[in-house]
Amino acid sequence: MKSLPEKVNAVKRVYAQLDKDIESMQQSSGLHCLSGCGECCKKPDIECTPIEFLPLALEIFDAGKADEVWQELHDKQDSLCYVFRPHVTHFGGMCNAYPNRGLICRLFGFTARINKESQPELVTCKFIKQEQAKEIEVLTSAMKAGKKIPVMGNYYTRLTSIDPTLAEFYPINKAMLKALEVVMHYYAYRKRRKS
Ligand code: SF4
Repeated sequence: MKSLPEKVNAVKRVYAQLDKDIESMQQSSGLHCLSGCGECCKKPDIECTPIEFLPLALEIFDAGKADEVWQELHDKQDSLCYVFRPHVTHFGGMCNAYPNRGLICRLFGFTARINKESQPELVTCKFIKQEQAKEIEVLTSAMKAGKKIPVMGNYYTRLTSIDPTLAEFYPINKAMLKALEVVMHYYAYRKRRKS
């Protein structure tokens, strides 16, 4: 059975590989986010698993903010992601925890799901579809001809294998809250030794 720090490191390793896979997909396809965007982070029904936020939760704990953040997450009334900061212009925004963002935050836009015909299908947003239609067309043809792009389910499977008990889906802020509780419970009677 893995210790909490081992689980956090295992999640980080999956993220490091995924980030490389997505970077390579973006370079070969030419697809990219709009500058300063973040509209997908505003979706009110984003669902995540607690395991996705173990690295963020440990960072919050190490910063001595666990109790404060727990309370804010617990009291939060709206569904906007806790770490998202919308721009005052009302278009876009930025993630306040980008290096420790969740799995879905990394996957969306540049990965595929497997459709009913068992074929990989790009999952992306309306902005990329509108502004980069040509690149999507070329990529879609290449995928039909066998080009591989990262598949969402593979990364969920890898995270689930780290700790299946933390792989249930919740609204994003609840998933963060649960991840924070896991860290707080783990260190309630243990001393945190930082490597
Ligand atoms: S995936 Fe789309 S909506 Fe999300 S930040 Fe990128 S361009 Fe914006």
